[in-house]
Amino acid sequence: MNKALRKVIIAGNWKMNKTPSEAKALLSEIIPLVKDADCEVVACVPYVDLAVAVETVKGSNIKIGAENAHWAESGAFTGEISTGMLKEIGVDYVVIGHSERRQYFGETDATVNLRTKAVLAAGMTPIVCVGELKEEREAKITEEIVGKQLKLDFAGISADNMKNIVIAYEPVWAIGTGLTATPAQAEEVCAFIRETLAKMYSKDVADSVTIQYGGSMNDTNAAELLSKEDVDGGLIGGASLVSSKFSAIVSAANA
Ligand code: PEP
Repeated sequence: MNKALRKVIIAGNWKMNKTPSEAKALLSEIIPLVKDADCEVVACVPYVDLAVAVETVKGSNIKIGAENAHWAESGAFTGEISTGMLKEIGVDYVVIGHSERRQYFGETDATVNLRTKAVLAAGMTPIVCVGELKEEREAKITEEIVGKQLKLDFAGISADNMKNIVIAYEPVWAIGTGLTATPAQAEEVCAFIRETLAKMYSKDVADSVTIQYGGSMNDTNAAELLSKEDVDGGLIGGASLVSSKFSAIVSAANA
């Protein structure tokens, strides 16, 4: 299997941006711009926007994702949201382990693992984020760091379930900074992720998993990044909030 047979996924990560009415307006702008996409188009939006987002994209080719989910089915977890709640309102994807969650909210590989399993069990697709810090790249330990994240984040996950996971390689130094990994740097780590999956599971699993690049991807650099053999899509922050930029990235994936 090669790149052409994997699902290409362009997903926006809106982070803590857009009220429900703003979400409706932005999605309404995006819908006609991406209607002919031959890749999967996803918008991952704040919890309070999810219901209106699902309603707004009905009948279009856009799927809706959440930005996190708790692992317990229910209970005394004030402020948290369960996978059952997300599933019931029509969410298809959930971002797990974003570096901002790891950096500011105490997310660890152990909790990423629990959340990923819960999202899979609920029948949604986790987009699991991995990536190294600037100091780690400078110390030339990127592969060690990412390899460890993959082992811990996916511990106890079966080969069949692994095929339902999307991995986003997001070098932390490139997120929201305007610094983008070069296409060669992105390809090098995405290929390393695929090799690691082949060792952990099998070549079949490794060849079938969609691996996205994320980190200041935009309308001008997307085509080159997405042309790389092991880069199967993008997780896009800032540029996903501007309909013309996000749709241009979707077009770059189609090309
Ligand atoms: C992200 O939030 O996952 C991201 C990649 O952000 P940005 O595109 O703004 O760097």
